[in-house]
Amino acid sequence: MTPIEHLLRREIAETGPLTVARFMELCLAHPEHGYYRVRDPLGAAGDFITAPEISQMFGEMIGIWIASVWDQMGRPAFRLVELGPGRGTLMADVLRVLAQLGAAGAAEPWLIETSPALRAEQARRVKGAKWAESLAGVPEGPFILIANEFLDALPVRQFLKSAGGWRERLVGLREGRLAFGLSEPLPGDDAAPVSSWHETSPAADAVLDMIARRLERLPSAALIIDYGYRQADRPEGPTLQAVRAHERVDPLEHSGEADLTWLIDFDALGRKLTGATFRLEEQGPFLARLGIGQRAAALIKARPDAAKSVADALERLTAPEAMGQLFKVAAALSPGIGPPPGFGEE
Ligand code: SAH
Repeated sequence: MTPIEHLLRREIAETGPLTVARFMELCLAHPEHGYYRVRDPLGAAGDFITAPEISQMFGEMIGIWIASVWDQMGRPAFRLVELGPGRGTLMADVLRVLAQLGAAGAAEPWLIETSPALRAEQARRVKGAKWAESLAGVPEGPFILIANEFLDALPVRQFLKSAGGWRERLVGLREGRLAFGLSEPLPGDDAAPVSSWHETSPAADAVLDMIARRLERLPSAALIIDYGYRQADRPEGPTLQAVRAHERVDPLEHSGEADLTWLIDFDALGRKLTGATFRLEEQGPFLARLGIGQRAAALIKARPDAAKSVADALERLTAPEAMGQLFKVAAALSPGIGPPPGFGEE
């Protein structure tokens, strides 16, 4: 039994079944044993690979986007904030491009990271970075914020509509094993069809609220990339999933030793970022408009021996059946800035 499962069982014994959000919080963020606190989960030897770890081209396109928006902002000194920077690869690739485009001197990199293990990785790759535990720790001023696969790691609550009303999905014990169950019906019913699921993350909402408030006051921008859906394409069931060593596993096994994520509802995310210009695009077309195809061709020309790996990376990042469609890119800009590059006609 993992140390986290011990903690989960103890808490269930003391207080009863846990919400999925509390379950995720213990698994991922427990100060001593939490998944993100004790390890670097990224890369071939880890549990999963993210877009910046697939190829430098991803970060380069984000760098081009940032330079262009910075230009629209009137080229101020700004804080370049990344939420959940992992190994620091994306920020390092972005800063290299900003240096080539004459924007690096204006950017002060801020990394929002709770994991000591990953902060050490980030310090190796990002020179001159500052760290904060949350966005609240970043001083006010113009900013450009990026977040790749960050929101999906924050705790989510899950609700199922039953005949008697909404019930919350809970984690308890059944026959001595961790098991999902449901709460009693919650007060307040609505017209949602029976069997539909609803998910909400108070932690993600708090981050989005803070971004929205700062966007209202300052010439700033945010680019949020994650896997998720538009309301019209919502998957049917609950979206919590666990990944370990690049395989899907049962979320209730390997507690604290598997990555837990859920799918972002990008329409709900857009509603949170009110007061700002909001645009949404799939990752494939977004990267294509920023020139990832041309960049791949240039890399192949410079290093023909790397042609296969560059072509493979391009395919993984942009093909609809790979990451190109499931991953979405959301941009929010303060009033007066835009239109942002990379997004199609409104
Ligand atoms: N953006 C990176 C890593 C994604 S993994 C990439 O694309 O490769 C999720 C990241 O969010 C990790 O760096 C993890 O430590 C961080 N993280 C998770 N929960 C967090 C929290 N509550 N506050 C700050 N960082 C958090």
